[in-house]
Amino acid sequence: MICAVRRGLSLGRTTKSFGRGSNLVVVENIPVVHCGGCHESYITAETARELDHIRKNRRSLGKAKRVLVASFKKSAA
Ligand SMILES: [Zn+2]
Repeated sequence: MICAVRRGLSLGRTTKSFGRGSNLVVVENIPVVHCGGCHESYITAETARELDHIRKNRRSLGKAKRVLVASFKKSAA
């Protein structure tokens, strides 16, 4: 979903994680569109479909890497 502002759009790449525990998968180099108006980043419908594909096939598409996973301890209150 792209907002109404759509000012100063720029393309970038980001890394996101999906799932948790043994279902956790980290996807790098996800293409995103960054909106300079609201400072939100968006992915296209095509990218969302590809992400879905990667998540469903993470066992075959993913490579096991040693990563540090930190857990945020403090609550928002
Ligand atoms: Zn925006």
